[in-house]
Amino acid sequence: MFVYLDHTATTPTSPEVLQAMTPYFGEIFGNPSSVYSFSKKSREAISKARQQVANALNANSDEIYFTGSGTEADNWALKGTLEKGKIAGKNHIITTAIEHHAILHTCEYLKKVEGAEVTYLPVDSEGFVSVDDVRKAITDKTALVSVMFANNEVGTIEPVAEIGALCREMKIPFHTDAVQAAAHLKIDVKAMNIDMLSMSAHKMYGPKGVGALYMRKGLRPENFVHGGAQEHGRRASTENIAGIVGFGAAMEILQTRLADDAAINSARRDRLIAGILERIPHAKLNGATGNHRLPNNINFSFIGVEGETLLLDLDAKGISASTGSACSSESLDPSHVLLALGLKHEMAHGSLRFTIGRLTDDSQIDYVLDVLPEIVARRRAMSPLWEDYMKSQEGK
Ligand code: PLP
Repeated sequence: MFVYLDHTATTPTSPEVLQAMTPYFGEIFGNPSSVYSFSKKSREAISKARQQVANALNANSDEIYFTGSGTEADNWALKGTLEKGKIAGKNHIITTAIEHHAILHTCEYLKKVEGAEVTYLPVDSEGFVSVDDVRKAITDKTALVSVMFANNEVGTIEPVAEIGALCREMKIPFHTDAVQAAAHLKIDVKAMNIDMLSMSAHKMYGPKGVGALYMRKGLRPENFVHGGAQEHGRRASTENIAGIVGFGAAMEILQTRLADDAAINSARRDRLIAGILERIPHAKLNGATGNHRLPNNINFSFIGVEGETLLLDLDAKGISASTGSACSSESLDPSHVLLALGLKHEMAHGSLRFTIGRLTDDSQIDYVLDVLPEIVARRRAMSPLWEDYMKSQEGK
């Protein structure tokens, strides 16, 4: 049995999206920048996709800029805004300790190379940022606030609308990394006072290698990719037309099923969570509960076992899961997100993330609930950490 439970790492391109993209690999190949009429179809396809993405966010189409990935959109928002801010003497960024590395490593770069000052806001034990902490961190040097919409490891949904309202009141640009959130939640950039928002197509059944940055009209961060005049002169390089068309189609399809998918996913999520808590002693659910958690996210720590070991055992049973961020899969460091939630190192090492989606059905949830307790019990039986833990519990 093949059970794919890593929809947060990536999703397959859906057949409808692939169908929409196909002509742009073959017969409609004109460079959108060329003047002859043959290229008109390529230009029109990009305009349509821009409108599709804009509609989903309640944005205007000229506020959507396609990029090569969610990571590039994050880099652009941060580097472009800081460079612009520096001209006005503003070099301070406020972000959080639980951002994706696309934000955290960009902030480290800006500190090192541009002399930026960065405030990393803490989160509480469920992963929530406090709006009051954002307010207190703002100074007259603050160029940007960047707080993720929803966390990719534990699924906590941040109070984005409140932070947006605060930043608008304080006249500070507000960016949110919505790479995960946009695949599951209804987003209204106007109502939520969002100035910039990053997205990625491959998290929502679109193709890899295409993302977008929403930038509110009037906001002019410096360009990030320099060259030709594509994307209204703000992001150079010949457009990935098939990818952009796929992104637009994926986003449009997503909107028609967002509410139904959220209901189905959250029911399966809650059944898996309840089943694990019932069958595996000393299992700790990481992150928030109910509506404050992405509908597809399940993240547990199992005292006494390493997440990496569990991944291999699950893989041997045909189950693809993760310990957290896709980008940290090559590192054995404990998750920075779980450490920020206050977990001890050994618990942060023992985490396991299941993310459900369109490839999931109920029988797969049952299968995980069948095999996981035995795997955890077997690994614990061999673990000195577990033995120590059980001794520490004696007499409690
Ligand atoms: N931001 C978040 C929250 C993510 O989860 C990811 C990918 O996992 C990214 C950014 C990077 O997106 P991309 O893979 O399109 O570069």
